[in-house]
Amino acid sequence: ICWSSKGGWHRPRVSPYGPISLSPAAAVLHYGQEIFEGIKAYRHADGSIHTFRPDENAARLQRSARRMALPELPAEYFLQSLRELIAVDGAWVPSGDDQSLYLRPFMFAKEAFLGVRPAEKVAYYVIASPAGAYFKGGVTPVKIWLSEDYARAGKGGTGAAKTGGNYAASLLPQAEAYEKGCDQVVFLDEDGNVEELGGMNVVFVMKDGTLVTPESESILAGITRNSILQLAEDRGHRVERRPVSLTDWREGVASGDIVEVFACGTAAVVTPIGALKASGFEDVQPTGTLALELRQHLTDIQYGRAEDVHGWLTRLDG
Ligand code: PMP
Repeated sequence: ICWSSKGGWHRPRVSPYGPISLSPAAAVLHYGQEIFEGIKAYRHADGSIHTFRPDENAARLQRSARRMALPELPAEYFLQSLRELIAVDGAWVPSGDDQSLYLRPFMFAKEAFLGVRPAEKVAYYVIASPAGAYFKGGVTPVKIWLSEDYARAGKGGTGAAKTGGNYAASLLPQAEAYEKGCDQVVFLDEDGNVEELGGMNVVFVMKDGTLVTPESESILAGITRNSILQLAEDRGHRVERRPVSLTDWREGVASGDIVEVFACGTAAVVTPIGALKASGFEDVQPTGTLALELRQHLTDIQYGRAEDVHGWLTRLDG
């Protein structure tokens, strides 16, 4: 779908996958004015195709749009774009455990000009790709590198928006994490509070069963995290959204107050964190069964094996 300041949203269409033409002066290439989402389509045992909480992704895309001075895509257009893609490409939704079709809606400034201002011509696309397990080891605990030299986002910045610049800022620290033998990088804010990983939120399980997750204006509000915390509340766990400093984390693990640490996001679902490594230390992290139980419950809902009591699924085919 295209958008212009004069014509609004227009020209919805499905076309074969292939290169798109863009002016070398397109604003997105110079100023990074773009946003995206990540959402999956799951095949149920009866063959039907469903997606998970698309209203939440549509709302987050609108929040990202506001921050990046892009037009807000109406939620019904968002859902329609997923349905139309599935109508032609539904056969690509794989069946089987952990298999899905990853959908990538994105919007960018295509107007050609070299001044710095919000673009008046914008394009919105959805592409898709079959996806399997995110980490090679399946759900084995991952090792996290603590980025002390680099920040992902700052106060008043774009951290809460799903925009490419945040990911651009995470590439170098992510490469550093790989160099240090880690799978992912965790970022701190300027006050030393834990933010999130490059593409996942962090949750701590306390000895008394409370789940604690960092909340701040500079992290992405994950839909997986929100759902996992809801499932935990349904089971009687308390949930706290509050700042967690690096010291709280390390002392909590050392004293036994923190009994599990896990990361969650659409791509990897739920992944236990097995170690936190930095230039001066390497802490083994406690692992338990709650993260894996919540992961199982969430995927059972997504694949139609457990009752969808919250009405989180939306059928995309038929
Ligand atoms: N934080 C970041 C930076 C991410 O890219 C993602 C993935 N979208 C998440 C958290 C998790 O969000 P969600 O559960 O909605 O996929």
